[in-house]
Amino acid sequence: MSEIPSAYEPGKIEKKWYDFWLKQGYFTPKIDPKKKSFVIIMPPTNVTGELHLGHALTATLEDIMVRWHRMKGESALWLPGTDHAGIATQVVVERQLAKQGRTKDGIGREKFTKLTWEWANKSREDIRRQHQLLGASCDWAREKFTLDEGPNKAVRTAFVRLYDKGLIYRGERMINWCPRCQTALSDLEVEHKDIIGHLYYIRYPLTQGKGFVTVATTRPETFLGDTAVAVNPADKRYKNLIGKSITLPIVDKEIPIIADETVDTSFGTGALKITPAHDPTDFEVAQRHNLPLVDIMNPDATMNENAGPYYGLERFACRDKVLADLQNKKLLEKIEPYSHSVGHCGRCQTMIEPKVSLQWFVQTQPLARAAIEVVKEGRVTIIPEHFTKIYFDWMENIKDWCISRQLWWGHRIPVWYCQDCAKVTAAVDEPTTCIHCGSKQIIQDSDVLDTWFSSALWPHSTLGWPEDTDDLRYFYPGSVMETGYDILFFWVARMIMMGLEDTGEIPFHTVYLHGLIRDESGEKMSKLRGNVINPSEAISKYGVDALRFALTTGTSPGNDINLGKGKLESSRNFVNKLWNATRFILQSLDAERLEAQATELQSQIIEDHWINSQLNRLIENVTRLMEEFQFGEAEQQIYDFVWSKFCDWYIEIAKIRLRPHPALSMAGEGFGEVSPLPFLANTLEKSLRLLHPFMPFVTEELWQSLKQRLPDKGQMPASIMIAPYPLADDKAFAPEAERVMDSVIEIIRSIRNARAQYKVKPSKWMEARVYTDELLSSLSAQANIIEILAKVRPLTILGRQERGPDKGKTLVLVLKEAEVVVPLAGMVDRLAEEQRLVKESEEIKERIAQLEARLRDNAFLSKAPAQVVEKEREKLAMLEDKLKRLHQELSQLNSSSADS
Ligand SMILES: [Zn+2]
Ligand SMILES: [Zn+2]
Repeated sequence: MSEIPSAYEPGKIEKKWYDFWLKQGYFTPKIDPKKKSFVIIMPPTNVTGELHLGHALTATLEDIMVRWHRMKGESALWLPGTDHAGIATQVVVERQLAKQGRTKDGIGREKFTKLTWEWANKSREDIRRQHQLLGASCDWAREKFTLDEGPNKAVRTAFVRLYDKGLIYRGERMINWCPRCQTALSDLEVEHKDIIGHLYYIRYPLTQGKGFVTVATTRPETFLGDTAVAVNPADKRYKNLIGKSITLPIVDKEIPIIADETVDTSFGTGALKITPAHDPTDFEVAQRHNLPLVDIMNPDATMNENAGPYYGLERFACRDKVLADLQNKKLLEKIEPYSHSVGHCGRCQTMIEPKVSLQWFVQTQPLARAAIEVVKEGRVTIIPEHFTKIYFDWMENIKDWCISRQLWWGHRIPVWYCQDCAKVTAAVDEPTTCIHCGSKQIIQDSDVLDTWFSSALWPHSTLGWPEDTDDLRYFYPGSVMETGYDILFFWVARMIMMGLEDTGEIPFHTVYLHGLIRDESGEKMSKLRGNVINPSEAISKYGVDALRFALTTGTSPGNDINLGKGKLESSRNFVNKLWNATRFILQSLDAERLEAQATELQSQIIEDHWINSQLNRLIENVTRLMEEFQFGEAEQQIYDFVWSKFCDWYIEIAKIRLRPHPALSMAGEGFGEVSPLPFLANTLEKSLRLLHPFMPFVTEELWQSLKQRLPDKGQMPASIMIAPYPLADDKAFAPEAERVMDSVIEIIRSIRNARAQYKVKPSKWMEARVYTDELLSSLSAQANIIEILAKVRPLTILGRQERGPDKGKTLVLVLKEAEVVVPLAGMVDRLAEEQRLVKESEEIKERIAQLEARLRDNAFLSKAPAQVVEKEREKLAMLEDKLKRLHQELSQLNSSSADS
């Protein structure tokens, strides 16, 4: 039998076990109609950049779910993948080119795409390697990339279907434009920053007669594209001007003054310049009033021919010149500082230009209606629940989705324009002729699709849609979509819309949203603050299991998670505790062979019943918590059980039984005859299985070592990851044993606390007397344990009626079901002792008052379930009893001091 090393070194076992699992094919589920399937499609990781803690959290939570379901015997698929990340990747490769003094236009579309593929392939390998490092048990045989032929065909098919239905159209609409990247951006790709700019008040002279209308704007250069001035019809200041016109200065263009109820009378002067081609609100006003659109900018944000004398100027140079010219004409009334939120390109930080542009759009309202319905009907559940309302709000106000991007990296739009009849051919496979006139003169649209278009199809495109594959039939719809709450709209909502549209089915039945990771003090992690934790560094320092455990500690759906050194260290300590406990058990098993019949959990020993009862309660709770997606709480309960009940109590007690203590004064009849080994082995084995989804590596290592020492090893599975997840056995519940052991633990703890409080040397034995009633015989049976663990000798356990007056100075500990009397001759200050008893009585009185108030409160009594009320009543009775006994101690203390 191989010894297990004295210290846990994660680096030595992690790769070994990952390779073993991979080789055994455990990650690849079989299509088995007799089995239930469990499916998580991994959110495709962007090929840009290295993995951060957010990815580690995603991978950990998904791995917990998938390992758990696999152990439950389900056919569990976790399908990994990567996203080409359109603009983000293109910007990275452009930057690399720029370092070599080259540009994308310089090398051309074909060469640029080839370079980007090379870069992406390397990055995908890194991402795969890092997921493997984290222990992710995903099915690499089914790994997908958004640009793979399968997902690619799905994208073209979905596009053409929507186009044929009239739900995809091309039109001039307001979009976010990045002048540097020269592409449209989705709202998600725009970062809003608060900046302090200016509000410029410009005078527009009336065309007829004297006077002017003053408008306020943050972007004065856009006045060149104005096509109206709007006022609120209820605004008395402007009532008589409605229907008249003004003449734009410098360019001498006459534009109308119109009335629109949406104009905010309190902003600026209450008169609003309308620049429909460069402002989303103005665009809507223009649509209502049929105003023309005048685009004044080139794609690179220089002014175009519509800007008259400013033609060719860059937008901010144009602003300076416009301001100077207006000033000269005395048309600039005033300038005020003004702080406002301005959109910037999320990739290159250039200021966004809202702009009307000819783009492709999805008409989303009909798709959204179906997606709202499935959530309302409860076919798709969002966890935590409060995000459901946010989902509805967004879906009910959904706008058409701009899906075209002026990029080279991505899915090219499957649309061809005919040079002869000017009509459009949309096709899944590249056409050779125009479907309208048969002309061969057709050119494909040069744009690509928004990255979110392909990720919206991810749950079904990864399983083979549009083909009718076995995977699609068995694994679709999936089970859980786990992702950050920040992309609920941009991604989750679109997957629901597109899944329903393409397959007629929901893509998954549960959406689990996790929070963001913050540092220990709750601050957002950022390079600037220097509080970023790199997952690879954390792994090399603490091991993968400790990192995973720390990430799960305190996690609950939708809430942000704090993570720092403290959590990582305490997780590592837990792994070490588990390691050392297992070593002790393995060494004991090596010393005393466990017979097959001895593995049956038959024992009359109270602590054996107790640990087994507690273990089964734990299993029951963990199962419920896992079903409720409360992984943080499930992990916490396993931690508490293993650390405290199992290691600190049961194993410590078992040590006494295995190696009877030489100093044991009252080794009772039969003590040490019944071996605790079957319970040690059973509790450890089940605890390891409970922990496996959270800490896959250390549990596999320890489980394999334990298995070698078990008589039924021949019937056990080859790996813990395919062993069944423990099921609770309610026959194991032993309330009486729990009551006794609670009392034993309380007695030992209180004596240990007293020793610490009075600074009694650890090696010193001290006398103790325990008085109790109902538990007299059960506590007497535990005398050995109390004696050794509390280091008390002689120890007497008696009925309360046998208690005579205490001689000399004593310390009296009033516990739930017993009093412990410890004579501390010469050590106890009587006054201090009296103060302690008084203080404790005061605290109990306060708690009694609170409970009484609560039990008088009709609101509480009518709302709380009967058993809760009953519990509170029991608590009150218990406290009242304790108070009575404290008072007795106090009067005894006083009378005994009077005697002495
Ligand atoms: Zn940009
Ligand atoms: Zn044609």
